[in-house]
Amino acid sequence: MTTATEFKAWRVEEHNGDYQGSEQTLTTADLPPNEVLIRVHYSSLNYKDALSASGNKGVTREFPHTPGIDAVGEVVESQTGEPAVGSLVIVTGYDLGMNTAGGFGQFIRVPASWCVAMPKGWDARTAMIYGTAGLTAGLCVQKLLRMGASPDQGPVAVSGASGAVGSVAVELLAKLGFEVVAISGKQDHADDLKVLGASDVVGRDALAAGKKPMLKPVFANAVDTVGGQPLAELLKQIRPGGSVSCCGLVAGPQLETTVLPFILRGVNLLGVDSVEIPLAEKAAVWEKFAGEWACPKTEGTARDIGRGQLDGALKAFLKGESSGKIVLDHAL
Ligand code: NDP
Repeated sequence: MTTATEFKAWRVEEHNGDYQGSEQTLTTADLPPNEVLIRVHYSSLNYKDALSASGNKGVTREFPHTPGIDAVGEVVESQTGEPAVGSLVIVTGYDLGMNTAGGFGQFIRVPASWCVAMPKGWDARTAMIYGTAGLTAGLCVQKLLRMGASPDQGPVAVSGASGAVGSVAVELLAKLGFEVVAISGKQDHADDLKVLGASDVVGRDALAAGKKPMLKPVFANAVDTVGGQPLAELLKQIRPGGSVSCCGLVAGPQLETTVLPFILRGVNLLGVDSVEIPLAEKAAVWEKFAGEWACPKTEGTARDIGRGQLDGALKAFLKGESSGKIVLDHAL
Protein backbone atom coordinates (compact mmCIF):
# COMPACT_ATOMS: atom_id res chain seq x y z
CA MET A 1 0.00 0.00 0.00
CA THR A 2 1.31 3.46 -0.97
CA THR A 3 2.03 5.85 1.89
CA ALA A 4 -0.11 8.95 2.09
CA THR A 5 1.51 12.23 1.05
CA GLU A 6 0.77 15.50 2.85
CA PHE A 7 -0.34 18.45 0.73
CA LYS A 8 -1.95 21.88 0.97
CA ALA A 9 -5.48 22.61 -0.15
CA TRP A 10 -7.80 25.60 -0.03
CA ARG A 11 -10.78 24.04 1.67
CA VAL A 12 -14.23 25.48 2.33
CA GLU A 13 -15.98 24.78 5.63
CA GLU A 14 -19.49 25.57 6.79
CA HIS A 15 -20.02 27.29 10.14
CA ASN A 16 -23.65 27.99 11.03
CA GLY A 17 -24.66 28.61 7.42
CA ASP A 18 -21.55 30.70 6.63
CA TYR A 19 -18.97 29.33 4.20
CA GLN A 20 -15.31 30.20 4.65
CA GLY A 21 -12.28 28.94 2.75
CA SER A 22 -8.78 28.58 4.18
CA GLU A 23 -5.54 26.76 3.50
CA GLN A 24 -5.39 23.38 5.22
CA THR A 25 -3.02 20.43 5.27
CA LEU A 26 -4.53 17.18 3.99
CA THR A 27 -3.08 13.84 2.92
CA THR A 28 -3.66 11.85 -0.25
CA ALA A 29 -5.60 9.39 1.95
CA ASP A 30 -8.27 12.12 2.25
CA LEU A 31 -8.89 12.00 -1.51
CA PRO A 32 -11.59 9.80 -3.06
CA PRO A 33 -10.59 6.28 -4.20
CA ASN A 34 -10.20 6.86 -7.95
CA GLU A 35 -7.77 5.52 -10.55
CA VAL A 36 -5.36 8.39 -11.16
CA LEU A 37 -3.49 10.47 -8.58
CA ILE A 38 -2.32 13.81 -10.00
CA ARG A 39 0.08 16.37 -8.54
CA VAL A 40 -1.70 19.58 -9.53
CA HIS A 41 0.55 22.35 -10.85
CA TYR A 42 -2.13 24.87 -11.81
CA SER A 43 -5.87 25.39 -11.57
CA SER A 44 -8.05 28.10 -13.08
CA LEU A 45 -10.75 30.27 -11.55
CA ASN A 46 -14.32 29.88 -12.74
CA TYR A 47 -17.71 31.26 -11.77
CA LYS A 48 -18.70 27.76 -10.68
CA ASP A 49 -15.81 27.70 -8.19
CA ALA A 50 -17.19 30.90 -6.68
CA LEU A 51 -20.61 29.24 -6.38
CA SER A 52 -19.07 26.18 -4.71
CA ALA A 53 -16.98 28.31 -2.33
CA SER A 54 -20.05 30.28 -1.27
CA GLY A 55 -22.01 27.16 -0.34
CA ASN A 56 -24.23 26.82 -3.43
CA LYS A 57 -25.76 23.37 -2.90
CA GLY A 58 -26.59 23.06 -6.60
CA VAL A 59 -22.82 22.83 -7.16
CA THR A 60 -21.49 21.24 -3.95
CA ARG A 61 -23.70 19.25 -1.61
CA GLU A 62 -21.33 18.54 1.27
CA PHE A 63 -18.67 20.51 3.14
CA PRO A 64 -15.81 20.65 4.00
CA HIS A 65 -14.89 20.66 0.33
CA THR A 66 -11.97 21.60 -1.92
CA PRO A 67 -13.29 23.51 -4.99
CA GLY A 68 -11.49 23.83 -8.34
CA ILE A 69 -13.27 22.52 -11.44
CA ASP A 70 -10.02 22.70 -13.43
CA ALA A 71 -6.63 21.12 -12.86
CA VAL A 72 -3.52 20.38 -14.79
CA GLY A 73 -0.63 18.37 -13.46
CA GLU A 74 1.56 15.30 -13.49
CA VAL A 75 0.26 11.77 -13.02
CA VAL A 76 1.97 10.24 -9.98
CA GLU A 77 -0.08 7.03 -9.65
CA SER A 78 -2.18 5.33 -12.32
CA GLN A 79 -4.13 2.11 -11.70
CA THR A 80 -5.01 1.84 -15.37
CA GLY A 81 -1.58 2.57 -16.88
CA GLU A 82 -3.19 5.15 -19.18
CA PRO A 83 -2.62 8.02 -18.55
CA ALA A 84 0.91 6.96 -17.74
CA VAL A 85 2.81 7.94 -14.60
CA GLY A 86 4.88 11.04 -15.36
CA SER A 87 2.57 12.33 -18.12
CA LEU A 88 0.89 15.74 -17.98
CA VAL A 89 -2.90 15.75 -18.08
CA ILE A 90 -5.71 18.31 -18.15
CA VAL A 91 -8.82 17.59 -16.08
CA THR A 92 -11.88 19.83 -16.43
CA GLY A 93 -15.52 19.37 -15.63
CA TYR A 94 -17.33 16.11 -14.88
CA ASP A 95 -17.55 16.14 -11.08
CA LEU A 96 -14.13 17.73 -10.39
CA GLY A 97 -14.42 20.51 -7.81
CA MET A 98 -18.15 19.93 -7.42
CA ASN A 99 -18.45 16.88 -5.16
CA THR A 100 -14.99 15.49 -5.94
CA ALA A 101 -12.08 17.33 -4.31
CA GLY A 102 -10.82 19.76 -6.94
CA GLY A 103 -7.86 21.68 -8.28
CA PHE A 104 -7.56 24.12 -5.37
CA GLY A 105 -5.63 21.28 -3.70
CA GLN A 106 -2.10 20.26 -4.66
CA PHE A 107 -3.34 16.71 -5.36
CA ILE A 108 -6.50 15.28 -6.93
CA ARG A 109 -7.54 11.66 -7.49
CA VAL A 110 -9.91 11.14 -10.45
CA PRO A 111 -11.12 8.47 -12.90
CA ALA A 112 -8.81 7.87 -15.87
CA SER A 113 -11.74 8.75 -18.16
CA TRP A 114 -11.57 12.39 -16.98
CA CYS A 115 -7.94 12.93 -18.09
CA VAL A 116 -7.02 14.60 -21.39
CA ALA A 117 -3.39 14.17 -22.47
CA MET A 118 -1.59 17.52 -22.70
CA PRO A 119 -1.36 18.52 -26.39
CA LYS A 120 2.21 18.21 -27.72
CA GLY A 121 4.25 21.37 -27.32
CA TRP A 122 1.79 22.92 -24.87
CA ASP A 123 2.49 23.69 -21.24
CA ALA A 124 0.52 23.36 -18.04
CA ARG A 125 0.10 27.04 -17.22
CA THR A 126 -1.11 27.95 -20.70
CA ALA A 127 -3.74 25.20 -20.54
CA MET A 128 -5.07 26.69 -17.32
CA ILE A 129 -5.18 30.22 -18.74
CA TYR A 130 -7.96 28.81 -20.92
CA GLY A 131 -9.38 26.38 -18.36
CA THR A 132 -13.06 25.47 -18.44
CA ALA A 133 -13.92 29.05 -19.42
CA GLY A 134 -11.71 28.93 -22.50
CA LEU A 135 -12.90 25.44 -23.37
CA THR A 136 -16.48 26.71 -23.15
CA ALA A 137 -15.72 29.72 -25.34
CA GLY A 138 -14.18 27.34 -27.88
CA LEU A 139 -17.24 25.09 -27.80
CA CYS A 140 -19.54 28.12 -28.23
CA VAL A 141 -17.59 29.30 -31.28
CA GLN A 142 -17.41 25.76 -32.67
CA LYS A 143 -21.23 25.44 -32.46
CA LEU A 144 -21.66 28.70 -34.35
CA LEU A 145 -19.23 27.54 -37.03
CA ARG A 146 -21.01 24.19 -37.34
CA MET A 147 -24.26 26.11 -37.92
CA GLY A 148 -22.57 27.85 -40.82
CA ALA A 149 -21.66 31.15 -39.15
CA SER A 150 -19.15 33.12 -41.19
CA PRO A 151 -17.64 36.61 -40.99
CA ASP A 152 -19.40 37.81 -44.19
CA GLN A 153 -22.83 37.40 -42.51
CA GLY A 154 -22.22 40.42 -40.26
CA PRO A 155 -21.37 41.24 -36.66
CA VAL A 156 -21.31 38.64 -33.90
CA ALA A 157 -22.23 39.75 -30.38
CA VAL A 158 -20.56 38.46 -27.21
CA SER A 159 -22.34 39.16 -23.92
CA GLY A 160 -20.51 39.15 -20.58
CA ALA A 161 -17.57 40.04 -22.83
CA SER A 162 -15.09 40.98 -20.12
CA GLY A 163 -15.65 37.70 -18.26
CA ALA A 164 -13.55 34.56 -18.46
CA VAL A 165 -15.66 32.89 -21.17
CA GLY A 166 -16.57 36.10 -22.98
CA SER A 167 -13.03 37.43 -23.31
CA VAL A 168 -11.74 34.23 -24.96
CA ALA A 169 -14.79 34.22 -27.26
CA VAL A 170 -14.01 37.82 -28.28
CA GLU A 171 -10.38 37.07 -29.13
CA LEU A 172 -11.12 33.78 -30.88
CA LEU A 173 -13.95 35.17 -33.03
CA ALA A 174 -11.85 38.21 -33.98
CA LYS A 175 -8.95 35.91 -34.86
CA LEU A 176 -11.30 33.93 -37.13
CA GLY A 177 -12.14 37.14 -38.96
CA PHE A 178 -15.49 38.03 -37.39
CA GLU A 179 -16.56 41.59 -36.61
CA VAL A 180 -17.12 41.28 -32.86
CA VAL A 181 -19.45 43.52 -30.85
CA ALA A 182 -18.58 43.10 -27.18
CA ILE A 183 -21.46 43.70 -24.77
CA SER A 184 -20.09 44.61 -21.36
CA GLY A 185 -21.15 46.27 -18.12
CA LYS A 186 -17.60 47.46 -17.49
CA GLN A 187 -16.99 50.68 -19.39
CA ASP A 188 -13.44 50.86 -18.05
CA HIS A 189 -12.67 47.57 -19.85
CA ALA A 190 -13.69 48.81 -23.29
CA ASP A 191 -10.09 49.39 -24.35
CA ASP A 192 -9.05 45.91 -23.17
CA LEU A 193 -11.88 44.38 -25.19
CA LYS A 194 -10.76 46.32 -28.26
CA VAL A 195 -7.22 45.04 -27.75
CA LEU A 196 -8.67 41.50 -27.72
CA GLY A 197 -10.21 42.25 -31.11
CA ALA A 198 -13.66 43.72 -30.49
CA SER A 199 -14.65 46.16 -33.25
CA ASP A 200 -17.16 47.82 -30.97
CA VAL A 201 -18.00 47.73 -27.27
CA VAL A 202 -21.54 48.50 -26.13
CA GLY A 203 -23.00 48.70 -22.64
CA ARG A 204 -25.28 46.13 -21.07
CA ASP A 205 -28.21 48.48 -21.72
CA ALA A 206 -28.13 47.15 -25.31
CA LEU A 207 -29.81 44.09 -23.74
CA ALA A 208 -31.98 45.91 -21.17
CA ALA A 209 -35.44 44.45 -20.57
CA GLY A 210 -38.00 45.79 -23.01
CA LYS A 211 -41.62 45.13 -23.86
CA LYS A 212 -41.24 44.91 -27.66
CA PRO A 213 -41.60 41.32 -28.90
CA MET A 214 -38.95 41.83 -31.60
CA LEU A 215 -36.18 44.37 -32.22
CA LYS A 216 -34.08 45.52 -35.17
CA PRO A 217 -31.96 42.52 -36.23
CA VAL A 218 -28.45 43.88 -35.79
CA PHE A 219 -26.35 40.79 -35.00
CA ALA A 220 -25.75 37.91 -37.43
CA ASN A 221 -24.80 35.53 -34.60
CA ALA A 222 -23.92 35.68 -30.90
CA VAL A 223 -22.21 34.02 -27.97
CA ASP A 224 -24.22 34.56 -24.81
CA THR A 225 -22.51 33.93 -21.48
CA VAL A 226 -25.07 35.60 -19.18
CA GLY A 227 -28.49 34.00 -19.82
CA GLY A 228 -31.61 35.46 -18.17
CA GLN A 229 -33.32 38.59 -19.46
CA PRO A 230 -30.33 39.78 -21.53
CA LEU A 231 -30.46 36.55 -23.56
CA ALA A 232 -34.16 37.10 -24.24
CA GLU A 233 -33.36 40.59 -25.55
CA LEU A 234 -30.43 39.29 -27.60
CA LEU A 235 -32.64 36.73 -29.35
CA LYS A 236 -34.88 39.59 -30.53
CA GLN A 237 -31.88 41.23 -32.25
CA ILE A 238 -30.53 38.27 -34.26
CA ARG A 239 -30.74 38.39 -38.04
CA PRO A 240 -32.75 35.77 -39.96
CA GLY A 241 -31.09 32.35 -39.82
CA GLY A 242 -28.57 33.44 -37.19
CA SER A 243 -27.49 31.45 -34.16
CA VAL A 244 -26.82 32.13 -30.50
CA SER A 245 -24.57 29.84 -28.45
CA CYS A 246 -25.78 29.94 -24.87
CA CYS A 247 -23.61 28.73 -22.00
CA GLY A 248 -24.13 30.83 -18.87
CA LEU A 249 -26.51 32.10 -16.26
CA VAL A 250 -24.86 34.99 -14.39
CA ALA A 251 -27.93 37.15 -15.18
CA GLY A 252 -30.26 34.33 -14.11
CA PRO A 253 -31.34 30.84 -15.17
CA GLN A 254 -34.84 31.88 -16.32
CA LEU A 255 -35.39 32.53 -20.00
CA GLU A 256 -38.67 34.34 -20.65
CA THR A 257 -39.04 34.69 -24.36
CA THR A 258 -41.58 34.22 -27.11
CA VAL A 259 -41.27 31.86 -30.03
CA LEU A 260 -41.15 34.85 -32.41
CA PRO A 261 -37.36 34.95 -32.99
CA PHE A 262 -37.49 31.25 -33.81
CA ILE A 263 -40.53 31.19 -36.07
CA LEU A 264 -40.25 34.62 -37.73
CA ARG A 265 -36.48 34.76 -38.23
CA GLY A 266 -35.44 31.12 -37.94
CA VAL A 267 -33.03 31.96 -35.13
CA ASN A 268 -31.18 28.98 -33.58
CA LEU A 269 -30.53 28.80 -29.85
CA LEU A 270 -27.60 26.44 -29.29
CA GLY A 271 -26.94 25.04 -25.84
CA VAL A 272 -23.32 24.56 -24.83
CA ASP A 273 -22.13 22.20 -22.11
CA SER A 274 -18.42 21.83 -21.42
CA VAL A 275 -18.76 19.59 -18.38
CA GLU A 276 -20.31 16.24 -19.28
CA ILE A 277 -19.43 16.06 -22.99
CA PRO A 278 -17.27 13.10 -24.14
CA LEU A 279 -13.56 13.41 -23.38
CA ALA A 280 -12.70 13.27 -27.11
CA GLU A 281 -14.70 16.46 -27.73
CA LYS A 282 -12.79 18.25 -24.99
CA ALA A 283 -9.47 16.93 -26.32
CA ALA A 284 -10.28 18.21 -29.83
CA VAL A 285 -10.87 21.76 -28.56
CA TRP A 286 -7.70 21.67 -26.42
CA GLU A 287 -5.73 20.65 -29.52
CA LYS A 288 -7.16 23.65 -31.37
CA PHE A 289 -6.21 26.12 -28.62
CA ALA A 290 -2.72 24.60 -28.62
CA GLY A 291 -2.53 25.33 -32.36
CA GLU A 292 -4.65 27.32 -34.82
CA TRP A 293 -6.99 28.78 -32.15
CA ALA A 294 -4.24 30.12 -29.86
CA CYS A 295 -5.28 33.41 -28.28
CA PRO A 296 -1.98 35.18 -27.52
CA LYS A 297 -3.57 38.30 -26.05
CA THR A 298 -5.55 36.29 -23.52
CA GLU A 299 -2.43 34.26 -22.76
CA GLY A 300 -0.38 37.45 -22.32
CA THR A 301 -2.73 39.14 -19.88
CA ALA A 302 -3.63 36.25 -17.54
CA ARG A 303 -3.01 36.88 -13.84
CA ASP A 304 -1.44 34.32 -11.52
CA ILE A 305 -2.47 34.06 -7.89
CA GLY A 306 -1.61 31.80 -4.96
CA ARG A 307 -4.02 29.99 -2.66
CA GLY A 308 -3.89 32.94 -0.24
CA GLN A 309 -5.59 35.20 -2.82
CA LEU A 310 -8.41 32.83 -3.70
CA ASP A 311 -10.95 34.26 -1.28
CA GLY A 312 -10.93 37.80 -2.75
CA ALA A 313 -10.76 36.58 -6.34
CA LEU A 314 -13.76 34.27 -5.90
CA LYS A 315 -15.83 37.00 -4.22
CA ALA A 316 -15.14 39.32 -7.20
CA PHE A 317 -16.55 36.60 -9.48
CA LEU A 318 -19.80 36.48 -7.53
CA LYS A 319 -20.17 40.27 -7.77
CA GLY A 320 -19.60 40.21 -11.56
CA GLU A 321 -16.43 42.26 -11.03
CA SER A 322 -13.97 39.68 -12.32
CA SER A 323 -12.26 40.24 -15.64
CA GLY A 324 -9.79 38.31 -17.76
CA LYS A 325 -8.28 34.97 -16.87
CA ILE A 326 -6.94 34.04 -13.45
CA VAL A 327 -4.62 31.08 -12.93
CA LEU A 328 -4.02 29.45 -9.54
CA ASP A 329 -0.33 28.56 -9.28
CA HIS A 330 0.29 26.04 -6.51
CA ALA A 331 3.96 27.04 -6.42
CA LEU A 332 3.15 30.61 -5.29
P1 NDP B 1 -17.31 35.63 -15.26
O1 NDP B 1 -17.82 36.03 -13.92
O2 NDP B 1 -15.83 35.68 -15.52
O3 NDP B 1 -17.95 36.52 -16.38
C1 NDP B 1 -19.31 36.78 -16.44
C2 NDP B 1 -19.47 38.18 -17.01
O4 NDP B 1 -20.85 38.41 -17.19
C3 NDP B 1 -19.00 39.27 -16.07
O5 NDP B 1 -17.62 39.55 -16.17
C4 NDP B 1 -19.82 40.42 -16.59
O6 NDP B 1 -19.22 40.87 -17.80
C5 NDP B 1 -21.14 39.77 -16.97
N1 NDP B 1 -22.14 39.84 -15.90
C6 NDP B 1 -21.97 39.57 -14.59
N2 NDP B 1 -23.12 39.73 -13.91
C7 NDP B 1 -24.04 40.09 -14.83
C8 NDP B 1 -25.42 40.39 -14.76
N3 NDP B 1 -26.09 40.34 -13.61
N4 NDP B 1 -26.06 40.72 -15.88
C9 NDP B 1 -25.41 40.77 -17.08
N5 NDP B 1 -24.09 40.49 -17.20
C10 NDP B 1 -23.42 40.16 -16.09
O7 NDP B 1 -17.88 34.17 -15.55
P2 NDP B 1 -17.43 33.15 -16.68
O8 NDP B 1 -17.13 33.92 -17.91
O9 NDP B 1 -16.44 32.21 -16.17
O10 NDP B 1 -18.77 32.31 -16.89
C11 NDP B 1 -19.88 32.90 -17.54
C12 NDP B 1 -21.08 31.99 -17.38
O11 NDP B 1 -20.84 30.78 -18.09
C13 NDP B 1 -21.37 31.58 -15.94
O12 NDP B 1 -22.75 31.56 -15.74
C14 NDP B 1 -20.80 30.19 -15.85
O13 NDP B 1 -21.44 29.42 -14.85
C15 NDP B 1 -21.10 29.68 -17.23
N6 NDP B 1 -20.28 28.58 -17.66
C16 NDP B 1 -20.89 27.54 -18.27
C17 NDP B 1 -20.18 26.48 -18.71
C18 NDP B 1 -20.87 25.40 -19.45
O14 NDP B 1 -20.30 24.32 -19.60
N7 NDP B 1 -22.08 25.64 -19.94
C19 NDP B 1 -18.75 26.37 -18.46
C20 NDP B 1 -18.16 27.59 -17.92
C21 NDP B 1 -18.92 28.64 -17.50
P3 NDP B 1 -19.38 42.38 -18.32
O15 NDP B 1 -19.10 43.24 -17.12
O16 NDP B 1 -18.36 42.48 -19.39
O17 NDP B 1 -20.79 42.54 -18.78
